[in-house]
Amino acid sequence: MLKVPVFYYHSIGNVGPETLAAERFRQHLCLLKDAGYTTLTASELIHLDKHDCSQYVALTFDDGLLDNYEIAVPILEQFGFKATFFVIPGFDNLTRWVNPKTRQWSDVSKQGFTIPFPSMQQHHRRELSDMGMEIGSHSMTHPKLNKIPVSRLQNEILESRHRLEDQLGKPVTSFCYPKGRYNTEVLHHIKSAGYECAFTTMPSYYEATTPRYECGRFLIESPALFERVLRWSSAKHLGVQSLCQVINPVLKLKNYYT
Ligand SMILES: [Zn+2]
Repeated sequence: MLKVPVFYYHSIGNVGPETLAAERFRQHLCLLKDAGYTTLTASELIHLDKHDCSQYVALTFDDGLLDNYEIAVPILEQFGFKATFFVIPGFDNLTRWVNPKTRQWSDVSKQGFTIPFPSMQQHHRRELSDMGMEIGSHSMTHPKLNKIPVSRLQNEILESRHRLEDQLGKPVTSFCYPKGRYNTEVLHHIKSAGYECAFTTMPSYYEATTPRYECGRFLIESPALFERVLRWSSAKHLGVQSLCQVINPVLKLKNYYT
């Protein structure tokens, strides 16, 4: 039966603690190549036949950071892999900053925040889209959607989709919750905005029974653990998905209320 590992990344190949070294990322892709995996975009994933048992994997990137375009994409291309990039169209002119001591992020330059993380621009996203990568929305300005007034949800969810579609000239059908936060009101807006699927930060394989608006993903840095998560997607390893199903209701409560 269908059981697809879905991974998510943020920064690749920048400096400091809040990035995954390019060499580590390359190791992940080597493991996928050696094991014969085919990469799927988010839209392809949710349209799979539920009886399809092929070796699929989905790679996703959150936050639309420029290093995704400059560093991760050339490595993906070397392997002939594709991915989905959940971007923040309201951040085009924004450089975000990281404090290497506290690992905190700031949307403004301030003392202690010394590592710049510039954002992708419209032309970067269009280039990725043209080369077969999927562009999804990660909201307009990356707030915790469960914490903002309902009146702002339309701008974050629907207007971000419209802006990206205008820029790309094609439909944008996938969404990713900023900081993994959502609630029933947010789910309602996602569905009525016309998205076909949405991704959380809760660990889980994608299966035929996965709710389309609460697709889980794994955040993995270690190549050894990455390899294990791949291996555990086989039908013989039922334990990990069961464990995810036990812990995810707790994580979901956190995502709803914090
Ligand atoms: Zn994010």
